[in-house]
Amino acid sequence: MTHHKTRVRFAPSPTGPLHIGGVRTALYNYLFAKQQGGDFILRIEDTDSSRFVPGAEEYIQEAFDWLGLPFDESPLKGGSYGPYKQSQRKDIYKQYVTALLDKGAAYIAFDTPEELEARRNEIANFQYDASTRERMRNSLTLPEEETASLIKSGIQYVVRIKIDPDQEIIVDDMIRGKVVVNSSVLDDKVIYKSADELPTYHLANVVDDHLMEITHVIRGEEWLPSAPLHVWLYRSLGWEGSMPQFAHLPLLLKPDGNGKLSKRDGDRLGFPVFPLQWNDSTNGEISSGYRESGYLPDAVINFLAFLGWNPGTEQEIFSLDELVAAFSFDRCSKSGAKFDLEKAKWYNHQYILKMSDPDLAKLFMPVLEEKGISAPIEKIEKTVGLVKERLHFIDELWDQSYFFFVAPTDYEEKTVKKRWKEETPALMRQLGELLDKMEDFSAKNQEETVMNWIQQNQLHTGNVMNAFRLAIVGAGKGPHMFDISEVIGKEETLRRIAQAISTLR
Ligand code: GLU
Repeated sequence: MTHHKTRVRFAPSPTGPLHIGGVRTALYNYLFAKQQGGDFILRIEDTDSSRFVPGAEEYIQEAFDWLGLPFDESPLKGGSYGPYKQSQRKDIYKQYVTALLDKGAAYIAFDTPEELEARRNEIANFQYDASTRERMRNSLTLPEEETASLIKSGIQYVVRIKIDPDQEIIVDDMIRGKVVVNSSVLDDKVIYKSADELPTYHLANVVDDHLMEITHVIRGEEWLPSAPLHVWLYRSLGWEGSMPQFAHLPLLLKPDGNGKLSKRDGDRLGFPVFPLQWNDSTNGEISSGYRESGYLPDAVINFLAFLGWNPGTEQEIFSLDELVAAFSFDRCSKSGAKFDLEKAKWYNHQYILKMSDPDLAKLFMPVLEEKGISAPIEKIEKTVGLVKERLHFIDELWDQSYFFFVAPTDYEEKTVKKRWKEETPALMRQLGELLDKMEDFSAKNQEETVMNWIQQNQLHTGNVMNAFRLAIVGAGKGPHMFDISEVIGKEETLRRIAQAISTLR
């Protein structure tokens, strides 16, 4: 037996923004391919021009660039099995349509939409198959000359695959095992339309998987019903011996209740279902993306990997390389995976904690710039280091740390009521004098000095520290107080104390 290099493909149709479930599918393809030392291919399935959406293909490419999942072959990158866009492969498909017709494995049908509708009304549960095709207008029922002259007249027709009844079709699925289907349940699907001279999804998909030497077809569960037809097409084309192995991944389910995860669930519960923001040019609607919502790509990958797979251990944090090593179809579930927003946030938090302060600071710079704030890089790095444990998202950085960069302009009312008492201004004046005398303004030294002073004067720690915080931050929040004063420095600390005393009478 020859061992072929593992080749897998992600085959989206550019009909809109890529759903997060599609990203999960692509990720599993990537993990499997890399584990096997194989190739990960992007193929754009754009034969249905009526559903084509401008910008969708670029969106897909951009999403994987952001996630850091590079394709080995793609429309952009090229490769030796191209073109990688089905709309550019018209002529390739035509030969196989002809071959199927010549073999008698497919036939031409002229039924108009009205005729089909009439049959549907006549016959309960009508499907175009072995039991009904004799009553239809096709090359099997019409005299040969009539078929030929109809085609010649320029009338539109379709080509249908001829499914023989009562045959066993086996879909060998790496997750679901052997799925056996009787061919009688299938209909004679349209595989080609003369109107646009293009094959339908099913034929193009099978022909390309064969020609591109795809070894494993890994895709969403919604394609499982099509798999028996695809197996039939492989058979009819004489390619049964080199059929890829299938894996149909479990559905992504709503966080609450049952059913497929939809964009509406995202809107309702406040989370993105798309990797990147999508601006719909047809209605101006904007859908949020993971990138724009402050998720880190590695966190999204780690989180998605766990929606339908688990390592069988307690480990939850996996780098991409670790996922590549650990992934297996044996540990993929057959049943749907519930989307878990809290888990998504938790992952993002973990990956923010894992980021170095300089890297985090780099992400924060544009925000500061936008606010018109310039600060030394060391200060920005120290600040993000102090607040990162409070973040779930990068875009929370400003809310968690603005007081490192701007003095309070007002003071939170409820905190003022509670923490700023009659004796407070005097206390703060003394504190200011104490800090003013310090040479070493490190958090550690401030803490020692202030705590000594509190003890010696039998002051109440809470009274001092809460008022101090209110003066510096403007509210009762933030990281360790002396860390804040160290970072903003002595001069600014004293200035804010003075400002609070004069403002909060
Ligand atoms: N074009 C199909 C889709 O949009 C491909 C399904 C498959 O992977 O075979 O999902």
